Amino acid sequence: MALVKCADCQAEISDQAPTCPKCGRPMAAQAATAKKSSNQRLATGVVLIAVGALAYFFAPDIYLSMGGVIAGVAGLVVLFVPAKK
Ligand SMILES: [Zn+2]
Repeated sequence: MALVKCADCQAEISDQAPTCPKCGRPMAAQAATAKKSSNQRLATGVVLIAVGALAYFFAPDIYLSMGGVIAGVAGLVVLFVPAKK
């Protein structure tokens, strides 16, 4: 459990609180946004890896193959490097 600042009134409130006790701003909206961006991140990483693997295995030349490796590595980075807070 941690204290977070209300985006509207700057009051310090529990991150477990559903709404700000001071101004009533719903806190669940923040959590939902964070979850959504983490899902988008996951999808981006998976797509990059899939495209990279396809390019690597089916590329007609070495350059496209290398591009596939780069895309795959970028996908892994997106998936496993934690987002800055
Ligand atoms: Zn507030």
